[in-house]
Amino acid sequence: MTESGLRLQEGRYVVQGVDLAELCETYGSPLYVYDGASISEQYRKMVTAFKGMNCKIKYAGKALTNMSILKLLKQLGAGLDTVSIQEVRLGLMAGFKPEEIIFTPNCVSFEEIKEATELGVVINIDNISVLEQFGHYFEDSVPVCIRFNPHIWAGGHSNIQVGHIDSKFGISVYQMRHVQRLIKASNLRVRGLHVHTGSDILDAEAYSQTARIMFELAHQFQDLEFIDFGSGFKVAYKEGGNETDVMAIGVGLQAAYDEFCEEYGRKIDLWFEPGKYLVSKSGFFVARANVIKPTPATVFVGVDSGMNHLIRPMLYQAHHEIVNLSNPEGTKRIYTIVGNICETDTFGSDRKLSEVREGDLIAIRNAGAYGYMMSSNYNSRFRPAEVLILNGEAKLIRRRETLDDLLRTQVGWEEEEND
Ligand SMILES: *Cc1c(COP(=O)(O)O)cnc(C)c1O
Repeated sequence: MTESGLRLQEGRYVVQGVDLAELCETYGSPLYVYDGASISEQYRKMVTAFKGMNCKIKYAGKALTNMSILKLLKQLGAGLDTVSIQEVRLGLMAGFKPEEIIFTPNCVSFEEIKEATELGVVINIDNISVLEQFGHYFEDSVPVCIRFNPHIWAGGHSNIQVGHIDSKFGISVYQMRHVQRLIKASNLRVRGLHVHTGSDILDAEAYSQTARIMFELAHQFQDLEFIDFGSGFKVAYKEGGNETDVMAIGVGLQAAYDEFCEEYGRKIDLWFEPGKYLVSKSGFFVARANVIKPTPATVFVGVDSGMNHLIRPMLYQAHHEIVNLSNPEGTKRIYTIVGNICETDTFGSDRKLSEVREGDLIAIRNAGAYGYMMSSNYNSRFRPAEVLILNGEAKLIRRRETLDDLLRTQVGWEEEEND
């Protein structure tokens, strides 16, 4: 019943026994649906892979911050990785303790860092300027984590490679001497080192290389409680594609970890910050085919959504698998699936789908991470509802927007009308 994933059962596509098409009858389309069983399964795989290394999983909330998802991950035992003060506040409201939350912002004001510090979360500093200000302001009263950039070129699309030499993230490992000066001048206490080289690191070798650099750096700090290896855990977007083999990474890290702890004189914790790995697979974005439009070049399937609701294909040229939910046994045909936004807006080109008829529902897979979170009201469309399936039961966790939601933050236009 609570097996994860999309299954064809008696001619209907179901998740944990729940019929996706039926969900759209209840909640309308387009609709985001999340498979809670998939999230726990992914979480458990990570915990198992790193269990020999005092591992702590800090879910990267920016992938999907719906409160019900945060609470589910909290229940599973995760901590939280945050990149804005708003994510920190949502995390606290979801029940994470301040010390379970790490704040890893980039280019935010010192005011925001002070605010997070006052909330008691773990502060991760990613540039020399803030490290210096933090030292002046807090001296040794608040221990910090420092984000380093080891300059390793690994990862997928160039927009999401963050560890390379041109990257804006982290403090260069070559600035170590400067970091040491600042620490000494302000008596800063460093409790953690952090690295996040970018999304989509597939091979264990890139991880081991990063790990070696970090363990080497760690010897220069006396009071470390943890090293945070960030993320980079990939899932398969294409059918037959590869998911990061976390077990292999775990095996690769274990020896280096043991050796480090031995030399360091005590065990430290290893933190990881997966976002995509935990929630991507869980998400199905369901939309309805409004129009089937043959042109001289292709057959378009025009759906009742667009890049305003799922921007990854247009923004990152990301490949998302697409399934026709309504006609599982239909003859396979080739389609280009497009959205209704008034500019080029493509979900997938030249895809083989069971024949799509007007009114059919299609599901776009791997829509859990950076799907709803990157959605907008472009073209003044409402953002969709979100449903979470847990223990075989579907629950609405965010309602669809209404015209009132589009107007809620607008001021000053009504008075003039009444003049
Ligand atoms: C985005 C981000 C992550 C999560 O990345 P995924 O590819 O979704 O796993 C983790 N840590 C930091 C600091 C991030 O900015």
